Amino acid sequence: MKKFTIQHTMKKYFKEKASLTVFCAILSAFTLIAYNIPAFRFAANDLNGGFEAVVIISSLVVIMLALNYFVYYLILWLGRTVGKCIVALSFIFNSIALYFINTFDVSIDDSMMGNVFNTQWSEASGFFSLGWVMYVLLLGILPSIYVIARKVNYGSVKRMGANIGGTLALTLAVIAANIPNWTFINRNQGPLGSLVLPWSYTVNSFRYHSAVRRMNRPEILLPDAVFTTGSKDVCILVIGESARRDHFSLYGYERETNPLLKQDNVTTLAATSAGTYTILGVKAILSHTPTDDPMEILPNYLYRSGAEVIWRTSNWGEPPVHIDKYLKVSDLKQRYPEADERYDGILHEGLAEEIKASDKQKILVVLHTSTSHGPVYDNLYPEEFRRFTPVCTTAELSKADLGELVNAYDNTILYTDFLLHSVIGELQSLPEDWRRCMIYVSDHGESLGENGIYMHGVSMSMAPKEQYEIPFIVWMSEGAARVKEIKEAGQFNVFHSVMDFLGARSDIYDENMNIFE
Ligand SMILES: [Zn+2]
Repeated sequence: MKKFTIQHTMKKYFKEKASLTVFCAILSAFTLIAYNIPAFRFAANDLNGGFEAVVIISSLVVIMLALNYFVYYLILWLGRTVGKCIVALSFIFNSIALYFINTFDVSIDDSMMGNVFNTQWSEASGFFSLGWVMYVLLLGILPSIYVIARKVNYGSVKRMGANIGGTLALTLAVIAANIPNWTFINRNQGPLGSLVLPWSYTVNSFRYHSAVRRMNRPEILLPDAVFTTGSKDVCILVIGESARRDHFSLYGYERETNPLLKQDNVTTLAATSAGTYTILGVKAILSHTPTDDPMEILPNYLYRSGAEVIWRTSNWGEPPVHIDKYLKVSDLKQRYPEADERYDGILHEGLAEEIKASDKQKILVVLHTSTSHGPVYDNLYPEEFRRFTPVCTTAELSKADLGELVNAYDNTILYTDFLLHSVIGELQSLPEDWRRCMIYVSDHGESLGENGIYMHGVSMSMAPKEQYEIPFIVWMSEGAARVKEIKEAGQFNVFHSVMDFLGARSDIYDENMNIFE
């Protein structure tokens, strides 16, 4: 009898039309409760209680409720069935994103969306489990069925105008009232924004695609270059990831993080990066001058001029590379099945042989690494490099013990030390009469909790020095070259220095930007 009553009530419920106001209020509240607990947990952890915490968190609740209501109302009123499908689809994406946030502590930022769009199905399938199925079923598909099945009375244009006008005004008023709390928002916009669903993946997908679109504009070719020397020259350019200068013992760090490089007779320059995130830093390393235009980048330029250019990468974010030897980790894994694809060591697999196999006189190898990329530094080096312990293994950096965080980060520098030492070893294994050099430059630095700031990406005008003071390390084979008496350098030095080392000249070559004598 009771079962009949429930069925009867359900039938009646789905037959009746809900007003769009009630329907959107339900969807907005559901979005807040079902998908945004991690965002509030993050805010609560960062604020550590008190009156300020209550004000900021309640403001966030009101803003999120009002903003979601506003968007649902607009999409459903304009789109009707199409609108329902969009909302249902966003619920399914939310459930997947929430699974990744809760299970792997990932932040859904633009670089994460870059990973999503660049990951092959075969790589991604390792992440899916029974837990994933449950998330998608209970928090994705089930609420989606509700959205599609519920009948809705959409109401008049006038009512739509009043509703969205009202919620928009409320959102703006709460934002305006929170201007005194700007420091909290500014400090946390990155990590917090990456947890707010569905906005994190929506906004960051747009950011990623607009960055890619900008990068994919047709390249403006530089004036033709000629090689003016006949020697056999090999340059390996290693692009570091999130490596900060003051954690290299070569630059005076009290901890021994460069036990191998210190025996290698390298030259160190104090450098600053052009930006605090990967796309900007890598572009500066590969460009001849600061510009917003899509000027031809170093590997494309030298390749077009007749040099051998090899690019191996475990990272992303560089402008389009137009060469034939562009190898991602998946390509290297296919070629060297024994290699461990979890770490940057795979970028070195068979490298000396590949260089020797080239019949070109001028060779540039670019290794675009990812070793010090947060938040979980401990995932980025093999076991034997876990030498500074205990290490932090969480991605929730605000909860991390600072000492453990620094330990894990320093282990990545220790692994980088090993990798750069290996590059030098590979260069040393090449014939004695070849001129050889290695240039290592990081894309940007990294914050490790100084003033409560973590990772990187703070705009350059406000960025702390930890995020732009980078290492610039050079090794040259006996008699190949000498570094000028300069103490400071920048990422734009790389282009001209590599050109000079390989004996290339053209109208854009600038001797003042060359680090070699
Ligand atoms: Zn980076």
